[in-house]
Amino acid sequence: MTLTAKQLVRPEITGIKAYHVSDAAGLLKLDAMENPYALPAALRAELGQCLADVAINRYPDPHGGGLKEELKAAFAIPAAASVLLGNGSDEIITLIAQALARPGAVMLALEPSFVMYRMNALFSGLQYVGVPLNADFSLDLPALLAAIASHQPAVVFLSYPNNPTGPQFAREQVLAVLDAAPGLVVVDEAYQAFASDSLMELAGSRPNLLVMRTLSKLGLAGLRLGYAAGPAEWMDELDKVRPPYNINVLTQAAARFALRHLDVFMQQAQTLRDERQRLLQALRQFAATTVFDSQANFITLRVPDAGQLFAWLKKNGILIKNLHGSHPLLDNCLRLTVGSPEENTAVLAALDRYFA
Ligand code: PMP
Repeated sequence: MTLTAKQLVRPEITGIKAYHVSDAAGLLKLDAMENPYALPAALRAELGQCLADVAINRYPDPHGGGLKEELKAAFAIPAAASVLLGNGSDEIITLIAQALARPGAVMLALEPSFVMYRMNALFSGLQYVGVPLNADFSLDLPALLAAIASHQPAVVFLSYPNNPTGPQFAREQVLAVLDAAPGLVVVDEAYQAFASDSLMELAGSRPNLLVMRTLSKLGLAGLRLGYAAGPAEWMDELDKVRPPYNINVLTQAAARFALRHLDVFMQQAQTLRDERQRLLQALRQFAATTVFDSQANFITLRVPDAGQLFAWLKKNGILIKNLHGSHPLLDNCLRLTVGSPEENTAVLAALDRYFA
């Protein structure tokens, strides 16, 4: 007798819903923290030439070759740190969870935070402990330190700045977690291009610190390239779990190309930071909303009826993320990606009509 998938797949997997990505066809897509800018035409042509020369009949360089060194140079990764590459930083989370999943081992993260931490704990068999943020989305350091003391986690994930709330926790709080944690602390700097602080300068010199980043939010989400920096002792072990050819040849070549033109992406990030400030200010004019601070390329706000506003915006051609229902602290919250000036103006005009 053949067993069914439901009989064979672990119940913790059959019991969950698949990661949902909304259909954005025909909509202004402001739900996924993407950079709104396409590559400038001249660069597009140059990239096309560069990719045409890639040997797609060969497997990729399993070690990322020059790419790691170029990332180190481009993003001031300390010489003392080793670099691990992932198919998006999503994959790095998976590698960490897989490597650490001894029976009974604990992953600890804040709630609400990036859902893939919790999902990967579930996939790999790690126990998951979530520590709630304060209602204003600041970090409850005493609660976090108490949870670390009682659960002795193998790994703590901190999203810095935090998705989906927006703020960057105080640096001293993150350093206190590093001091208190018995295991690895992953500081996830996915939104670093829009933030005011980074712990990268400490990567490689703090024995339990791993700083993780991605090219996704910088305008290269389609490439799927994440990287992490930390002590060689950690990175060498994590690298054993990595599928040998996880970064395909086209991604390696396109990322190296992008790093040679990093100024273009940094300029776009600056525009998006300016736009974030304009949006924050404008959104705060709507008396019915609470607008949370943001150090990322998105803004989280609480409105009287998130479901209604989400549906109304969608009907008006704008897709954002409805966070309502994903965590009690996110009641009636929506998350809006910062777009181009024109896109943001369109959103503000739509909100003007909604709240009128
Ligand atoms: N970390 C955080 C905090 C994120 O918000 C995201 C994407 N939403 C990621 C990691 C994953 O990014 P990617 O896999 O595209 O590198």
